[in-house]
Amino acid sequence: MNRVIRATAFAAQKHRNQRRKDAEASPYINHPIALADVLANEGGMDDEAVLVAAILHDTIEDTETSMDELIAHFGEEVAGIVAEVTDDKSLPKAERKRRQVEHAAHISEKAKLVKLADKICNLRDIAACPPADWPVQRKREYFDWAKAVVDGLRGVSPVLEAVFDEAHAAKPHAG
Ligand code: NDP
Ligand code: ZN
Repeated sequence: MNRVIRATAFAAQKHRNQRRKDAEASPYINHPIALADVLANEGGMDDEAVLVAAILHDTIEDTETSMDELIAHFGEEVAGIVAEVTDDKSLPKAERKRRQVEHAAHISEKAKLVKLADKICNLRDIAACPPADWPVQRKREYFDWAKAVVDGLRGVSPVLEAVFDEAHAAKPHAG
């Protein structure tokens, strides 16, 4: 538990100037906390490395955080899981999205759990507090892409996969 709290403080500091894309520009840290909440309290997950990695999952991708820093603070296992769910930012966006679908089946079980929670949380956000400027068609494309990613990693947690399917059932109707 102490390491989860330490990770939360670390991520809060790293994401302190960032906001989500919703109309209210919610604090970014709400999102990693939501992943850990889904994993622990909807998925019954008590693996500390998974919960810590969930809290840290966007630090390398979206903040000035290095692998070495994560290793020094949280160890090789956690840093490895975060690396597995981090996109290669040198690639164009469409290619990154394609790779997520392609790689989903080949990452570790712990990384699959973090990725599944990320997609659950992002679908819920798009349903409840979407990026302000997204037309319905873009939301629908995101739902389709998230499902393609999750279909590649199924088998890791039937409970969380059902939670995902429930979130996916809220796919917006074509306008
Ligand atoms: P995304 O389409 O990937 O934006 C969604 C990401 O933003 C989420 O995965 C999430 O990532 C983060 N996010 C932050 N706030 C929210 C929120 N409130 N709700 C949901 N997600 C949130 O990234 P880009 O905007 O950079 O667009 C890139 C892709 O979109 C390209 O592949 C491009 O082709 C396509 N595109 C499609 C358009 C269309 O109209 N269909 C128009 C323009 C681009 P995280 O969890 O990592 O924070
Ligand atoms: Zn995320």
